[in-house]
Amino acid sequence: MHELSIAQSIMTTVFQEMKRRNITCVKSIGVKIGTLSGVMPEALQFSYEAITRDTPLSDTALIIEHVPLLAECNLCGKQFKVENIAFFCPACHSVDVTLLQGEELDITYLEIEDADLNDR
Ligand SMILES: [Zn+2]
Repeated sequence: MHELSIAQSIMTTVFQEMKRRNITCVKSIGVKIGTLSGVMPEALQFSYEAITRDTPLSDTALIIEHVPLLAECNLCGKQFKVENIAFFCPACHSVDVTLLQGEELDITYLEIEDADLNDR
């Protein structure tokens, strides 16, 4: 199950970050999921809740942000959202385009409960 291993890697990364920054409580974790990453947000949410149940992250919310597929036309430079996985430029109809975003799977932020941290 793809999402379970992703949830585990998110949890591991967050634990490492908590240890590195000496944090005991994280309020929420933001992740970006690209259209082409193949991740089902609902399945990831479910897996995350299941594996964090008896950990320090049991009260930490996982905030999933869906990143649309974005491409740029190599002919005219137009950037556009790819709808229905049709890789051509809506402006000039060229198929010579470069994929800009849509494959990512990133932890974008940790929201920390304790305001004393010299983070901001
Ligand atoms: Zn174009």
